[in-house]
Amino acid sequence: MSNFRIRTLQEFSTHRAERFFEEDRPVSEYFGQNVFTMERMRKYLSPDAYAHVQSSIREGTSIDRRFADQIAAGMKTWAVEMGATHYTHWFHPMTDSTAEKHEAFIDRDSEGHVFETFKGNTLVQQESDGSSFPNGGLRNTFEARGYTAWDPSSPAFILDSTLCIPTVFVAYTGESLDMKLPLLKSLRALDRAAVDVVHLFDRNVRKVNVMLGPEQEYFLVDDAFYRARPDLQICNRTLLGHTAAKDQQLEDHYFGTIPSRTMAFMKDFEVNAYKLGILLKTRHNEVAPNQFECAPLYCEANLAIDQNLILMLLMRKVAKKHHFKVLFHEKPFDGVNGSGKHCNWSLVTDTGVNLLSPGRTPRTNLQFLSIFVSVIRAVQEHSHLLMSSVASLSNSYRLGGHEAPPAIMSVFVGTTLDKVLRSIEDMSDYGGEDGERARLKVINDIPEILPDNTDRNRTSPFAFTGNRFEFRAVGSSVNVSAPMYVLNAAVARQLVRFRSLVDERIAAGEKHDDAIFNVIRQYVLESKDIRFEGNGYSKEWQEEALRRGLRPVGEVPEANKALIEPATVELFSSQGILSDRELYARYEVQQETYTKKLQIEARVLGDLIVNHVVPTAIKFQNTLIENCQGLKDLFGAERMRQMCTSQLRMIEKISRYVDSLRKDVHDMIDERRRANQIADVTERAEAYCSLVLPYMQKIREVSDKLEMLVDDELWPLPKYREMLLSR
Ligand code: ADP
Ligand code: MG
Repeated sequence: MSNFRIRTLQEFSTHRAERFFEEDRPVSEYFGQNVFTMERMRKYLSPDAYAHVQSSIREGTSIDRRFADQIAAGMKTWAVEMGATHYTHWFHPMTDSTAEKHEAFIDRDSEGHVFETFKGNTLVQQESDGSSFPNGGLRNTFEARGYTAWDPSSPAFILDSTLCIPTVFVAYTGESLDMKLPLLKSLRALDRAAVDVVHLFDRNVRKVNVMLGPEQEYFLVDDAFYRARPDLQICNRTLLGHTAAKDQQLEDHYFGTIPSRTMAFMKDFEVNAYKLGILLKTRHNEVAPNQFECAPLYCEANLAIDQNLILMLLMRKVAKKHHFKVLFHEKPFDGVNGSGKHCNWSLVTDTGVNLLSPGRTPRTNLQFLSIFVSVIRAVQEHSHLLMSSVASLSNSYRLGGHEAPPAIMSVFVGTTLDKVLRSIEDMSDYGGEDGERARLKVINDIPEILPDNTDRNRTSPFAFTGNRFEFRAVGSSVNVSAPMYVLNAAVARQLVRFRSLVDERIAAGEKHDDAIFNVIRQYVLESKDIRFEGNGYSKEWQEEALRRGLRPVGEVPEANKALIEPATVELFSSQGILSDRELYARYEVQQETYTKKLQIEARVLGDLIVNHVVPTAIKFQNTLIENCQGLKDLFGAERMRQMCTSQLRMIEKISRYVDSLRKDVHDMIDERRRANQIADVTERAEAYCSLVLPYMQKIREVSDKLEMLVDDELWPLPKYREMLLSR
């Protein structure tokens, strides 16, 4: 084995499960201790200021400057008591990570007296000098300033002795430069639209909240292996590597016993998450070796997303202590399952009713159906946009694979509701007594508790699972705001339409419930094609979907175009969520990100081939040649040739492989150079996709063949077997 690999393996074997500091208090005693909760606000703020924060959270309005100083002072007192020394406006730029710039609380007055201070102005808004965040051209004008502004609906928290204040990030012009602002706007649009529909049934409801439970999948690799693989280090995925003889075929990892070292890691990050108010509920092994999942209890979507991002930060940090590297990449290892972040999504009223749960009475069932079919109708109308919202370079390696949701959108509802929707389709559109009887029968047929479809159809990208929808195509590495604001916007739009169609029918003389039912029926008919109960991975479905006219999502640069199609611009701008300029900026950022990431991958691959793989192959080939040479000296050329037929063939094969690798790397670099000359972001991304990417696949295939030929002792990179199967 190469010295490097020996050292790596030795280092790995010293990484045993250790006992880390464990909290022995019950979780309930320290849960949320690092969060400035409403309870703490009540304690640290004056009643007036507290009431003001409460109302701005409820109404989604910003904080009045009159109260800002008081709120800031209260927040600072608490934070300093908790040992915080710094504060930061914590925000979500248009990347998948979060950003922070720390400022100390400490200051000095004119007499040299040092004190802690935090002013209302600094809490509410800050000018951000980080002009190097992706902005898609929104900040290239003469006015490049950007601002972060407090989002009071997500509480401040303390991480690493720093008070983190969740904020939105906007340009001087008010255009959003982040993921949070459009999310908040979409939540408000959906709230308004849903309340209007719910008022057909219940006038007491004042607010509808979007609830989200994101399931986070991830891989763990030993730190030593990670550092020995430049591809993992730089690209978060392996660009080379032959699959292990055994990986997930025996299905013995899923839900298996969690290895003790992993368990120590999980417990450690869970304690930290609890202190930050993140209510983690489940942990288990996933399908692939060394793949795991954790899921929080669902909560209000804005908070759920903040918490998911905090969780990812925490997991990365805690993993270090355990000599692990946590990989959130969608496809770190070829040939085994990839990782997603299933988004469990539902709508709950301020009166505590889950609108995606049928109720006890025909009325509540009618309400359930109204919302349920509106979601399906929304997915049908914007199916391509929704699927495109999860497209990225990393997710493209996962989607469409045999284990991951296919690239065509469809909705799975389960047998019970499929039957209900089918009988609605079969009914005719009229009022009258017969009609009413038939309708009541359909509605009464909906059981109060629907079966949980969670494990019934894992092949659907968008499945109804009893009391929520689960969007499964979302990638594990992303900030899920984008797929969520697309979904929210699409549903809000259909709910607005629903209400106005019902109002029109009522105005035309239809009875209240007849009108509602007829619109439900219209939606069921309109959205029929998006419903699919079968196996989404099958070839038949691909064909059937095309017959139905469903648009599959193609390559990422193509998928990105969905963001600037007229229907998308209309969807977002009419609801005030994103303007055409903002959408275009996002589009540009996505195309650029795709190109840059692929460019980095191609560079790393070239380096690995030229500096690791080829020299190793030649070294090995030389030992074969030496061996043949020796045999020739001993037995003569004729005998040697007889004795070494396969060995000579191998020598030739290695030369062929090395030659083809060198040539392909060279050609790939040429294609890259050519692509880099293209000024247009779209054309450049397309060139990378169609001209550079294919080389990467080709090169990998050959290199993986060499890995199987070359003496294991010489191979410089940790192998799949080592990374995936060592515990
Ligand atoms: P599974 O893997 O079987 O889908 P998990 O327990 O791993 O289930 O995750 C399910 C996620 O869905 C959890 O985060 C859970 O809190 C969330 N969830 C459950 N009910 C709802 C709901 N009504 N709305 C939104 N999310 C929900
Ligand atoms: Mg799960």
